[in-house]
Amino acid sequence: MGRRRTKILRGIDASPGICVGVVHLVDRRKFRVPKNHVADHEIEQEVARFREAVEISITQLDAIREKMASRKGQEPRAIIEAHLLMMRDEMLVDGTEKRIAKQSINAEWALKDTVAEIRKVFDNLEDDYFKERRSDVEFVAQRIMRNLMGRDTELSRPSHENAVIVAHDLSPVDTAGLSRRKVAGFVTEIGGKTSHTAIIARSLELPAIVGAEGILNHAGTGDRIIIDGYRGEVILHPSDKAIQQAQMRSEVLRHRVAELVSEKSLPAKTIDGKKVMLSANMEMVEEVPTALHYGAEGVGLFRTEFLFLNRRPPSEGYQRRCYQKILRLMKGRPVTIRTLDIGGDKRLPFLRSEPEANPALGLRAIRLTLRMRPLFLAQLRALLRASVDGQLKILFPMISCLHELREAKDVLEAAKEQLRAKGQAFDPNVKVGMMIEVPSAAFMSDAFAKKVDFFSIGTNDLIQYTLAVDRQNEQVAYLFNPLHVAILRLLNRVVQNAHNNKIPVSMCGEMAGNPLYLHILLGLGLDEVSMNPLALPYARHLIRGSRHKEAKNLLHQVAQMTDSEDIHATVHQWMAKRFPEFFTGDGHADILGGL
Ligand code: PEP
Ligand code: MG
Repeated sequence: MGRRRTKILRGIDASPGICVGVVHLVDRRKFRVPKNHVADHEIEQEVARFREAVEISITQLDAIREKMASRKGQEPRAIIEAHLLMMRDEMLVDGTEKRIAKQSINAEWALKDTVAEIRKVFDNLEDDYFKERRSDVEFVAQRIMRNLMGRDTELSRPSHENAVIVAHDLSPVDTAGLSRRKVAGFVTEIGGKTSHTAIIARSLELPAIVGAEGILNHAGTGDRIIIDGYRGEVILHPSDKAIQQAQMRSEVLRHRVAELVSEKSLPAKTIDGKKVMLSANMEMVEEVPTALHYGAEGVGLFRTEFLFLNRRPPSEGYQRRCYQKILRLMKGRPVTIRTLDIGGDKRLPFLRSEPEANPALGLRAIRLTLRMRPLFLAQLRALLRASVDGQLKILFPMISCLHELREAKDVLEAAKEQLRAKGQAFDPNVKVGMMIEVPSAAFMSDAFAKKVDFFSIGTNDLIQYTLAVDRQNEQVAYLFNPLHVAILRLLNRVVQNAHNNKIPVSMCGEMAGNPLYLHILLGLGLDEVSMNPLALPYARHLIRGSRHKEAKNLLHQVAQMTDSEDIHATVHQWMAKRFPEFFTGDGHADILGGL
């Protein structure tokens, strides 16, 4: 048989690494859901059949969770726990049961319609992170459906080593359970960089590409395949030469990354002695081991939104246990946990708010939690109770005026009072900070600096609001520019005001994790930068190869410019000259892909 023609497909670089392997196709899309009406006397039996499928699904997830616990280095248990909670979700479970009875339809049909209804709730969300959570509900429902129909629920095991799983989509549970002995990587047709599947791939250090449209039309089990998680590239039926080249590239890049990671215990200090704290951003407790592996000195931003994805907000006890776990795993290193930042475009199932014309400017983050006092109090109590287990810092999102900050601090005091009344322990000196992500807060940072223990700059929102560029809108993405001179001036002002008032200032927006901006951040004099864990070794290496004095010169130089394109070109050339291994003349080198 002649060699098939090479086919190259592009997707999203979800997790770095290159693997040369053999396709193991998983195509679970093709099954038709049976639809039939049931007689009145059969309804009870139909509901019982549905309940049994839910119970079997719970038992299966429980077993997978147990298996996970005994495997070293594979901790995505919280996702499985979240799926277990969804298995008891009112809208999903009760909703389906009611549908069976009301519409006299079989369980499969009722489940399908219920999921379609839930999908609508999530469909209106613009935020990628929350949109991705919709797929979690679908994965849970799919498991119940498969159990109802007596189909396989788990992935078929590849018969060969070096398998590359190719699928339309993989659930986070599927991904977490992949055999590391056999599976070398995976490619999916859909999904984004913020999907749990992608997050788990990075935490398991499994090369992965998502969003490779149409791959199922081209790939078959047994085909040779190369996936390049640095470039987001898939090569089907590669030539021997392409395989050889990929293997060489893989060796070189792997070796280089390992070298970078091996520097993780060295201080992130410039040649002339400026130390910058390197912290990790995360959304799930499971990310802690990866963050530590890559050298995180703390957690600079823990987004608590993920804990609130179900129909009902999590209990105080459940939250406390989660916060406690992160603090314990971080073993005394500082952990900054942000209070709930939802509302606006991040709407959650339990929020029954009216749609807003301008969600980003609407009832979100601190504005919302100040209105939902019991929910806010419960989160603050949970945080305070966990504070005895490590070095906790509480962060308020989206503060725009002093009054708001005062109110938030009052609620925190009320939470402390409630705990005192109950005799529950907490750290009375827990540090309290605020996000600087609204231009008014940046302008007024001199006044705010007198009221908090630290600042954390959220450039994702600060840039959105300062430049009037919707961070979700691809049409205006070209205007989203961290090097806009207005942004640089604002950042400079915030850092100066923080330092004049002797408080530390961190940056936790995406700007902080992009190596291209590293000398700008150094020049600004930030005390801490917090980023995606995989980016930490790069930041450390670049900091250690830099001079603070030089970085300040760069900042000084570009601060005089007014044209953002000139600034960009200057910064790029500057970095390419100093770090040619990481920056090419017009972009970045492969080694920075997949971050
Ligand atoms: C930011 O706005 O920069 C930030 C870190 O917060 P989020 O991305 O969660 O809005
Ligand atoms: Mg923000």
